[in-house]
Amino acid sequence: VEPGSDDRFLFYSEEMDQRAKDHLRLETELRAALADNQLELHYQPKVSLRSGRIVGCEALVRWRHPERGMVSPAEFIPLAEETGLIFEIGGWVLEEACRQIRAWKDAGLAMPPVAVNLSARQFDRRLPSRILAVLDRHGVLPQQIMLEITESLLVGGADNVIAIMNELVAMGLALALDDFGTGYSSLAYLKKFPISTLKIDRSFVIGLPDEENDCAIARAIVTMAQQLRQEIVAEGVETPEQMAFLRDLGCDQLQGYLFSPAVTAVEFARMLRDGERL
Ligand code: C2E
Ligand code: CA
Ligand code: CA
Ligand code: CA
Repeated sequence: VEPGSDDRFLFYSEEMDQRAKDHLRLETELRAALADNQLELHYQPKVSLRSGRIVGCEALVRWRHPERGMVSPAEFIPLAEETGLIFEIGGWVLEEACRQIRAWKDAGLAMPPVAVNLSARQFDRRLPSRILAVLDRHGVLPQQIMLEITESLLVGGADNVIAIMNELVAMGLALALDDFGTGYSSLAYLKKFPISTLKIDRSFVIGLPDEENDCAIARAIVTMAQQLRQEIVAEGVETPEQMAFLRDLGCDQLQGYLFSPAVTAVEFARMLRDGERL
């Protein structure tokens, strides 16, 4: 037996034990958060690179934790996906987005489409009828909602995924492919799916316009999307230089801190009412 190997084992197992405990606690707290209305939606504007106007937004979930303050979805969505809590959270997100759209409409606001993120696990054959029920309950038209899905869903390649997508599109919902470029989709692949919008992942936007590789990737994505007649949204745009580069490429929309981070529903309504522009 090597000296120290037992110690090492002890160290790792304690660490794993701690991780499991942290997970369990987070899961318990997350269940309580759902019951206790600690989740909220914030809205990040998407602006047209042609008109500079707000042409959409993305609903992003936030957890207002009583002790820890705002917890990022990056911390709890992966866990929710693992434990299956994502079904409840996803249901709540859709319900809350529709409730808010109804309230904004009732207040006389001209609302652009609101995008909602869907986890791959939420994608089953009952999804279209579930969404329809929520829309009906709030008197919201399907054209008011866009669904953001990720490449992992496409790479599975199952026929029923295409069938469900077609059903959603036939209902009048639009589909956007999120984080594009980080997965394994190819041009041939994309053609099979009824996707109207591609979102270029932030990891390729960061290096614009200095990193040659990022420029080449952004250019290739935009060219491809134009060929497929898809709208292109660039995520995570933070600088005027990135914006100028993307505009010259022919990118349609921008989402990022340069214009605005995700803001509360009240603040987003104010931005719309004031006609804030890029
Ligand atoms: P995502 O869908 O890629 O959302 C974009 C993320 O980038 C958001 O982080 C947003 O706040 C952030 N972001 C936007 N502009 C900028 C920028 O200019 N610079 C930087 N550094 N970041 C920017 P957020 O809100 O923390 O969300 C993280 C992820 O959590 C989302 O990534 C999405 O995958 C997931 N998520 C959020 N809400 C939901 C939800 O309701 N359901 C599901 N399934 N996932 C969600
Ligand atoms: Ca998204
Ligand atoms: Ca994204
Ligand atoms: Ca991303």
